[in-house]
Amino acid sequence: LVSRKKHPDNTIVTIKKEAVGDGKQRLIAGPCSVESYEQVEEVAKALKAEGIKFLRGGAFKPRTSPYDFQGLGEEGLKILKDVARKYDLAVISEIVSPQHIEMALDYVDVIQIGARNMQNFELLKAAGSVDKPVLLKRGLAATIEEFVNAAEYIHSKGNGNIMLCERGIRTYEKATRNTLDISAVPILKQETHLPVWVDVTHSTGRRDLLLPTAKAALAIGADGVMAEVHPDPAVALSDSAQQMDIPQFKEFVSNLIESGLYK
Ligand code: PEP
Ligand code: MN
Repeated sequence: LVSRKKHPDNTIVTIKKEAVGDGKQRLIAGPCSVESYEQVEEVAKALKAEGIKFLRGGAFKPRTSPYDFQGLGEEGLKILKDVARKYDLAVISEIVSPQHIEMALDYVDVIQIGARNMQNFELLKAAGSVDKPVLLKRGLAATIEEFVNAAEYIHSKGNGNIMLCERGIRTYEKATRNTLDISAVPILKQETHLPVWVDVTHSTGRRDLLLPTAKAALAIGADGVMAEVHPDPAVALSDSAQQMDIPQFKEFVSNLIESGLYK
């Protein structure tokens, strides 16, 4: 169902009147974790000022250590929804459990399935059974074929509003948190008809690499770029080393515009 061979036309996913996959590049930005209404609102104001429509934020955080901040759960989704309503933004947030899919429909405009859950087949099937766009992230050690099959799981249940997100894979290289597999972008565009995003934050884990990798992603044909932004990354409850603060984010967007790759 997701194969380009069978369905040559691009899938365009429309989220709150904003199209993804129509040839115009988009940005998704927001904090790693939702921490408070005020924190999300500060980021939302910056998005609004830059004309960006897609607000991300994690409410259910799949953390490597059980002792790290696990997210605010449903309360976090409520914060995202309230802020997004005030600033007319669309909400993208990760859901980690099939039992939470129905509940999430009230709060989010896009269900994110994270790297750690790319092969959680019950979650994929649950997301495939509802009428809500899904952003599916590539697994930490998933091949492109496995990634495409995960999308197929969602589509097979009836939901064709799927967007793929390359977020780096695990390799022996330690200079970056993960290795951004940039060639996955044109391969996914060739093999599927789905929009393809690149998450520059989790792939690099390095603030200094966000701009060059975002440029590379757009130059190679990604439909959009995801990046994390926090009002004060130094005190962020997760991913403190790699989130941009708001002035850095504004600089990031203006540099992308200047590059001519993002309009
Ligand atoms: C995220 O986007 O919040 C996240 C946890 O990313 P990933 O699933 O790609 O690690
Ligand atoms: Mn993060």
